[in-house]
Amino acid sequence: MMARTHIAFAALMMVACSVGILQRMPQVHEVALAGAAGLLPDLDHPKSTFGRIVPYISIPIAKVFGHRGFTHSFLMVALIIWLLLTYREQQNIPVLPLVIGYFSHIIGDLLTPSGVPLLWPIRKKFSLNIFKADGPMEHFIYRGCWIGVGYFLWVALQRPGDLWIRPAHMAVSNWCVAALEQSATMLVHLLRIMA
Ligand SMILES: [Zn+2]
Repeated sequence: MMARTHIAFAALMMVACSVGILQRMPQVHEVALAGAAGLLPDLDHPKSTFGRIVPYISIPIAKVFGHRGFTHSFLMVALIIWLLLTYREQQNIPVLPLVIGYFSHIIGDLLTPSGVPLLWPIRKKFSLNIFKADGPMEHFIYRGCWIGVGYFLWVALQRPGDLWIRPAHMAVSNWCVAALEQSATMLVHLLRIMA
């Protein structure tokens, strides 16, 4: 996916999360941070936006892991979440926009034919193969993302916590509760097997 689509997609994810899940007005600095974080995984490519700014970081990463390697995996996302949560207190780091932006990049690349090694160090690449990078579909999605951002802003301005937002929020919290219950049942089952 192209850099500008990654930024637009990250911005959409951030705004959707603020309005749809957290039920609050999206903050400009959070959307900007998510957009920037949406370019971070391509630090493994010396010709990418960030790669050109810090070649002394991107060239070694590219040499060791290759493009679309470690930086495009769940393991890296987990590592980033852990690092951010560890240092959040001292540095006052806005964790959510950085994680959303970073993760949105991986989802974006997952849609293209080249795919991403989600389970790195397992080298298998996963791809939903929905559109080619820089093709007409990507241009369409790019515009769609900004329309989506506009839509969520409109929702937030028009009727905060109402109509559209409440059912989405309910659905997400119900899903979380169900997932937690399921995990607890599985854990008890596992403990019984081990006992
Ligand atoms: Zn990428």
